[in-house]
Amino acid sequence: MTRAVLVTGGAGYIGAHACKALRNAGFLPVTFDNLSTGWRDAVRFGPLVQGDLFDRAALDAAFAEYRPVAVMHFAALSLVGEAMRDPGKYWRANVLGSLNLIEAAVEAGCLDVVFSSTCATYGDQDGVVLDEDTPQRPINSYGKSKRAIEDMLADFGASHGLRAVIFRYFNVAGADPEGEVGEFHQPETHLIPLMLDAIDGKRPALTVFGTDYPTPDGTCIRDYVHVSDLADAHVLGVNWLLDGQGSRVFCLGTGSGFSVREVIEQSRHVTNRDVPLVYGERRAGDAVALVSGSARARTELGWQPKRSNMRDMIGDAWRWHQTGGFKS
Ligand code: UDP
Repeated sequence: MTRAVLVTGGAGYIGAHACKALRNAGFLPVTFDNLSTGWRDAVRFGPLVQGDLFDRAALDAAFAEYRPVAVMHFAALSLVGEAMRDPGKYWRANVLGSLNLIEAAVEAGCLDVVFSSTCATYGDQDGVVLDEDTPQRPINSYGKSKRAIEDMLADFGASHGLRAVIFRYFNVAGADPEGEVGEFHQPETHLIPLMLDAIDGKRPALTVFGTDYPTPDGTCIRDYVHVSDLADAHVLGVNWLLDGQGSRVFCLGTGSGFSVREVIEQSRHVTNRDVPLVYGERRAGDAVALVSGSARARTELGWQPKRSNMRDMIGDAWRWHQTGGFKS
């Protein structure tokens, strides 16, 4: 029988790519999603259970029906700007939603969880090499809520034998190279899709948030990872747990930082089009630079990123962008 994996947030950007990778690896990805930010059209690789993490009965029913061997937990609110304006929304959705899920999983005897955490749990530590042992000092409620869930998973590990692979992602970009799924947020807040909107006239311009950061060109630096490479890491994470290798934290980044201006410059090359720009204020909650300094995912999990270079990430995103995204 095909082994099921319950994928919360499977209708979202990263979750949908993970579902494709799971399907390709022979698992049945069962999406559990309330479709508040996800898309029905993104659920293409397995069944959809439309449900909310606050609905314990719906969670219990999904565990009972599909008997998943593991959970991948993506469902979350993830926007730094929104988290700064409305922290309560982040604590409620992310922390309480995860608590419900973890309790339901433990009760169902499903003790292997792959969790989407973030480099935003490190906060602003310019000049520090960020790896799994770096102290976490989040500076916004998004990062704080994710760190709290990491702590929650550790507590349920100690008390109930829960095993968790925690992935701290750096910046996720690109789209499925076969064009089946891609990034489509409404409203959009991320750099690359906004830049592509500005390039093809869907928006008047891209606003660069701050040009006075202490970086070589004054703009923030981020480490961008291709979403399909990230999805591959998640399948490796499930297999790691099912092989009995136990709880582990992995950073998922390339180790190369790109400034906002460098990303813009690369997109000019890839699309052969100009990017209309406006220079604006810093965005509250943004760290100066976030770049992974870890090789653990490569050495221990055997993760080999294939498309995490700026040319492929922008090229795949550009092709997906031109399809117009999901309809429903
Ligand atoms: N950014 C920008 N203009 C935008 C959106 C983002 O200059 O319209 C910058 C942002 O300040 C950050 C980088 O691009 O330095 C990546 O931001 P994004 O929102 O894509 O991801 P985050 O780093 O917040 O996860």
